Amino acid sequence: MSIPREAPADDYGLVVLRSPARYRELVRAHPEQALLSLPAVVPGLRLDIRYATPHNLLGRPLYPQPAAYLRQPAAEALGQVQQALRRQDVGLVVYDAYRPYSATVALYQAVQDEHYAAPPWRGSRHNRGCAVDVGLVKLSTGQPLPMPTDFDALSPAAHTSFEPVSSLVRRHRTLLLTTMQAHGFQNYPGEWWHYDYARWGEFGLLDLPFSAL
Ligand SMILES: [Zn+2]
Repeated sequence: MSIPREAPADDYGLVVLRSPARYRELVRAHPEQALLSLPAVVPGLRLDIRYATPHNLLGRPLYPQPAAYLRQPAAEALGQVQQALRRQDVGLVVYDAYRPYSATVALYQAVQDEHYAAPPWRGSRHNRGCAVDVGLVKLSTGQPLPMPTDFDALSPAAHTSFEPVSSLVRRHRTLLLTTMQAHGFQNYPGEWWHYDYARWGEFGLLDLPFSAL
């Protein structure tokens, strides 16, 4: 399936879908394009949506409310990851998932570094509803499992292959990597928490507010 081209190109020549009515038409024709709310699809999922709080790179909330959406096949794949981790009393915590394009523009203006924020002229796979920022928790308590850095750390220690780390931290990072890869996600090597759904190229850029979903 090709990327739907219903929306006009913006200042950067990108095609960004901004109309909730057009989004609904698209989903009627292609149900896989639907953004699904992750807590409805992934039992026991924890949310820690940092961009809905001041606890992020900008120091102010970027989202009016915490929300976590992915396109239907990506959401279902994340459900399989949660299911696979459950046997070890481990679950996922989501820091960010679908991100409206306008939020990517605001983040880039704050960071101004392509290594740490997708530039507006390319957009982010988060804008396609096909990227998710995740960590691990102990399922029975909800406590986060130690990782090399906090989410969104602008540091070499955020790189997925960074060493030295403790054996415990390496075990968590590797468990996340291997389980996500086994269910169709690819890690961005600059950020241990960032995963792209492998079929992201089938889904276009969106700038729909959560309230429109
Ligand atoms: Zn990310």
